[in-house]
Amino acid sequence: MALYRDDAVVLRTHKLGEADRIIVLLTRGRGKVRSVAKGVRRTKSKFGSRLEPGSIIQIQLYEGRNLDTVTQVQRTETPPQARTDLSHYGRLTVLLEIIDSVTVEGESNPALFKLLTGAIRELGRRPNPMIVPAFAMRLLALEGVQPSFDHCVRCGSTEEVVGVNLAEGGVICRNCPPTGERMSGEALEVFRALSAGRVRHVLDETPSTVQHDVESLAGRMVEQYLERRLKTSSVLYQHLQT
Ligand SMILES: [Zn+2]
Repeated sequence: MALYRDDAVVLRTHKLGEADRIIVLLTRGRGKVRSVAKGVRRTKSKFGSRLEPGSIIQIQLYEGRNLDTVTQVQRTETPPQARTDLSHYGRLTVLLEIIDSVTVEGESNPALFKLLTGAIRELGRRPNPMIVPAFAMRLLALEGVQPSFDHCVRCGSTEEVVGVNLAEGGVICRNCPPTGERMSGEALEVFRALSAGRVRHVLDETPSTVQHDVESLAGRMVEQYLERRLKTSSVLYQHLQT
C-alpha cells in the first residue's frame, strides 16, 4: 500500500454509505481511478466541495485493494460558471461523460488528460458552443478515427456533400444514396477546419447560424463511435437546444 499524488479531473461522484462518496477521476499518470472520499458528505469535511464533477485538482491518494482513498485535495480549479449557466453545465457534463465512456481504469493516456483539461478551461473562459465539437473531433482522432471530409466515401468524388456517415468513414455526396446524417456546406467547412487542426479559427469564426448543426452532428459522430454507450447524450443535446 502506498501514497501517491497526481493531477486529476473529477468525472463523476456518487454516494456511498452514510457520509462517504465514490469519486471517479481521470488522472494524468494512472488514467481512470475509482476512489473513495471518506466523511466527505459531513458539513465539516475539508475537501467535499473540491470534489465536484469538472473540478481540476491535485490529489493525494492511498492505494487500496479495490478503491483508493482520497487523503488530500489541492489546487482546485472549478469552472466558474458550472453552477449557474445550464448550457455550460450541459456541455461540461457531455465532456465528462464522453471521457468516462472511452476510458478504462488503470490505462494512462496523458494526451486525453490534456485534451480534457484544455476543453474544461476553455469552457470556463467562455461558453462557446464550438468547444464540444472541437473536443469531440480531437478525441476521435486520438482514438484513431479520422472521417474523410474531402471525398465522398462511397464514390470518391468531390461533388457537393449532402451527408456524413461515420460508420462508412466520412461524407456522402449528392450523387450517392443518402445515408447517415444530413450535413450542410457551412457545417462541412467547420468540420474540415477542425480536422485540419484549426481549432482557434473554428472557435472564433463559426457563424452562430451553423453552431447548433455542428454541435449536434459532432455529438452524433461520437455517439456512433461509442456504439450508443452514451445513453444520456441525446437528452443532453435536447437540453442544449433550449
Ligand atoms: Zn458519392
